[in-house]
Amino acid sequence: MTANLLSVEALERTFLLPGRGFFAEKRKVRAVDDVSFDIRRGEVFGLVGESGCGKTTTGRMLVRLLSASGGRILFDGQDIATLDDEDLGAFRRRIQMIFQDPYSSLNPRMSVRDIVEEPLRVAGGINAPRRREMVDEALRLVGLSPQHARRHPHEFSGGQRQRIGIARAIVMRPEFIVCDEPVSALDVSTQAQVVNLLQDLQRDLQLTLLFISHDLGVVRQLCDRIGVMYLGRLVEVGDHKSLFEHPLHPYTQALLDAVPRPDPDPDRVRVKLAGDLPSNMASPSGCRFHTRCPYARELCREQVPELKPAGTGRQVACHFVISSEDTKSARFSLPEEEERKGNG
Ligand code: SF4
Repeated sequence: MTANLLSVEALERTFLLPGRGFFAEKRKVRAVDDVSFDIRRGEVFGLVGESGCGKTTTGRMLVRLLSASGGRILFDGQDIATLDDEDLGAFRRRIQMIFQDPYSSLNPRMSVRDIVEEPLRVAGGINAPRRREMVDEALRLVGLSPQHARRHPHEFSGGQRQRIGIARAIVMRPEFIVCDEPVSALDVSTQAQVVNLLQDLQRDLQLTLLFISHDLGVVRQLCDRIGVMYLGRLVEVGDHKSLFEHPLHPYTQALLDAVPRPDPDPDRVRVKLAGDLPSNMASPSGCRFHTRCPYARELCREQVPELKPAGTGRQVACHFVISSEDTKSARFSLPEEEERKGNG
């Protein structure tokens, strides 16, 4: 058994949109471009970035709701694109998804029991009394009662509906769950309850989670390691402590600087994001972040920075992140500063 439950290798997804005129060529959108990361068994891996950065598309490819245009996804060592019907059934029992919107992701005509039981019926091979037990158990695990099972989604609050969505995801006892912005449609106090519930379930059921969010506060609370995405590419990966305390990529710094802090450091140089996220129909050349990066230089406009190791367990895609000689640490340093040091 390998330490990684999931490995993503050079993943790509391109969408084709209609051209602007009758005879115009179709336009290509590179929603995900050359993305690679691993998720270890039992860890919570966060994917963060602004909306439109490709994190949800990545999550959907992992559960095979979308096919990849390039690259590979290995689940427990097996390429999920090559699964036959039988293996695909087994894969679907092991991997589930929790959706963003608890209002639209539940069928309003179905009772809670039918909604939570649906994955068990689709999988087949489980008799009705056992399915009933499994649904009751899943409802209890998410803090609802089996008495709720006869009701319909409109009779519940937003937080309770998300609990129903979570019950549906865990009823098969999967190993891996993709959580796609599961708390972003909820109010702040309900968000905290749902995040605590996910934390408890992850520990008690020994789940591996991919947690997709634009909310760094939530990601900080829940995730062991984090990948930061910008315009379809990963720009930084690291464990949550080092990434939050010592962000290396200017985009990660800007995201963290946008979060209000109770103890702001007056001496810290803050990175402010300039302008809006460019369209990924016309991604900037070189480093895609160069149009908004306060440190951009000529090199940034010309060459794509690769995601490379930058200290223990970290990876960063920036031309000016330099690793120490023993490769245990890294720092961001512009060429002028290096020159000054050389002269000094
Ligand atoms: Fe900024 Fe250049 Fe680094 Fe990109 S490569 S993040 S533009 S400094």
